[in-house]
Amino acid sequence: MHNEVKSAAINPYHMAVQQFEAAAEKLKLPEDMREMLRQPKRELSVNFPVRLDSGRIKTFTGYRVQHNVNRGPAKGGIRYGPDVTLDEVKALAMWMTWKCAVVGIPYGGAKGGVICDPKHMSPGELERLTRRYATEISIVIGPHSDIPAPDVNTNAQVMAWIMDTYSMHEGYSIPAVVTGKPLSIGGSEGRHDATATGVLFVTRQAARRLDMSLRGARVSVQGYGNAGSVAARLFHNEGCKVVAVSDTRGGIYNETGLDPAAVLHHKQERGSVIGFPRAQQVGVQDVLEVPCDILVPAAIEGVLTAGNADRVLARIVAEAANGPTTPEADKMLFDKGIVVVPDILANAGGVTVSYFEWVQDLQSFFWGVEEITQKLEVIMNRSFAAVAEKADQYHCDMRLAANMLAISRVAEATQIRGVYP
Ligand code: NAD
Repeated sequence: MHNEVKSAAINPYHMAVQQFEAAAEKLKLPEDMREMLRQPKRELSVNFPVRLDSGRIKTFTGYRVQHNVNRGPAKGGIRYGPDVTLDEVKALAMWMTWKCAVVGIPYGGAKGGVICDPKHMSPGELERLTRRYATEISIVIGPHSDIPAPDVNTNAQVMAWIMDTYSMHEGYSIPAVVTGKPLSIGGSEGRHDATATGVLFVTRQAARRLDMSLRGARVSVQGYGNAGSVAARLFHNEGCKVVAVSDTRGGIYNETGLDPAAVLHHKQERGSVIGFPRAQQVGVQDVLEVPCDILVPAAIEGVLTAGNADRVLARIVAEAANGPTTPEADKMLFDKGIVVVPDILANAGGVTVSYFEWVQDLQSFFWGVEEITQKLEVIMNRSFAAVAEKADQYHCDMRLAANMLAISRVAEATQIRGVYP
């Protein structure tokens, strides 16, 4: 069983810069523009104390990085985890800039992270950590400057604490400071399912181009959190057969298909998908290599590498996760004829409905779920078509095409705004 996931050799920021350079080269972007776009605008590191339940005071480290704000306020999630690094947050912030540009929503890119082990913290400890981290980064976040959202190991409750903390400091409620909030405090209908819904929309388009039916198509999903578990449910509802899923502790496989809702129930009761009845136990990495038609990496970055890309059997890789495929693996998958719908396009449904949430908060006027899903589908389909057209035009993979489209839009905004002073 393959359980090794995070390779020390893969630095996500180096990966992000390598992808950027490839697109910049193809666009023939001048070096001074590349210099402006290659690096984050701001990197904030914070060290802050939190009182643990034991009475001990522990100092935690967190980050908030704003990569680029030329197309609008910075936007991006916050992740918690023991392995969070500044380079990872910088990469994720850069990908957010391109993601917002590729789907044409008026945001720049940002990301945040805190080095902590949320699985071993009590709800009270997590709340105190979140409120203090929110206070520390409040010098850069705000409804018109930088708007956080959930990511790995954070959720609607964490967003509620950030919204409340920020609002307490300002003296009145400011729901638009974060998205992915609970509905009761200005969250949006459809936000919980948005990332996976977007993944489904673009996979439908990719399958259409391959003349492939989703009915009966076998799907394998790595990661069973917000992106992964909802994707499994939506693909199941679409008539696909979800044959494998995994989380940090391992994977499960059943060639006749798993019931995603029952697997989620099992995970909620037992803390993991492993041990699910009538399924074969496999390793975390094995789910990437099982026989399937659609592979959905929905966990972390750097999991499809030169070491395993030749064993991927899917026809479509729909990247719900950010940065799951290294540049070497990208080339191998492209050469094998596998269609990779890249992260900045495939998982952009999350930030798109976050944008809808922010607009609704600013207007204090809320929309129904049908309207949101419909608007999301228009944006995802339009963006997919634009990227596919570029990929055809340049005979290149969809990642390069998506990056070219996104980077040219950010470069145009940068150029037209000019250099201050
Ligand atoms: P989450 O915390 O809800 O779920 C993460 C899942 O991945 C969990 O099941 C966890 O067990 C699994 N996981 C974590 N580390 C793993 C590892 N080393 N190996 C295997 N599995 C591992 O997080 P999420 O919000 O679903 O995010 C998952 C991915 O989707 C991330 O790359 C995130 O950046 C991306 N994403 C999320 C959103 C969103 O709206 N939540 C939007 C766009 C992209």
